[in-house]
Amino acid sequence: MKSNRRFKVVLFLGLQGSGKGTQASILSRKYGVPVISPGAVFREEIAKGSELGRLIASFVSQGKLVPPRVMHEVMRVKLPRNRCGVGVILDGYPRSVAQARELARFCPIDLALALRISDHEALRRLRGRRVCSVCGENYHVTERPSRRGRLCERCGGKLMVRQDDTPAAISRRLRTYHKETEPVIDYYRKKGVLIEIDGEQAILTVHRAIVRALGLNK
Ligand SMILES: [Zn+2]
Repeated sequence: MKSNRRFKVVLFLGLQGSGKGTQASILSRKYGVPVISPGAVFREEIAKGSELGRLIASFVSQGKLVPPRVMHEVMRVKLPRNRCGVGVILDGYPRSVAQARELARFCPIDLALALRISDHEALRRLRGRRVCSVCGENYHVTERPSRRGRLCERCGGKLMVRQDDTPAAISRRLRTYHKETEPVIDYYRKKGVLIEIDGEQAILTVHRAIVRALGLNK
């Protein structure tokens, strides 16, 4: 029997390398709900060379998180109020309790999915991560290689190591995540909308757990 339940707003929480970008992308294609990821928007703006893009690049190239006021500007443009009523998957936002509170003012969250992985596993995975330089699709040299080798399966764009995936930048981001984003998990737990999933499992296993959590049929 096919479930009629549709989700409106789902967000992914997890360390860089937890697979949340990949899971968001799979879910998006399967159910036709768009993903809004500040990271992808940042890369788009940087590639366009816009004023916002140049500002973002100045932080990213140092492995720093983009400051809240810039993040807010991005979300204001990319996540209009009506999008929350139609359905959206958020990947990489909110990153702090302050942002979660801001989001709650105009976007009710159905489900917050936390993908749990250890720092050690995050580091191992991040080293193999590649991103399409054109459309921002995520790949991994061993876990999700492109069927077209060094080119993107979707658009043929060249795959690259992300600018912010240098070892020093990764370590800084892990520390910031534990300090600022871990409390977001507690925030959604208290709201009763948190589901935690072991992110060290295979991609398909994690995907099935997400589908079950959403009450959707395969
Ligand atoms: Zn692409």
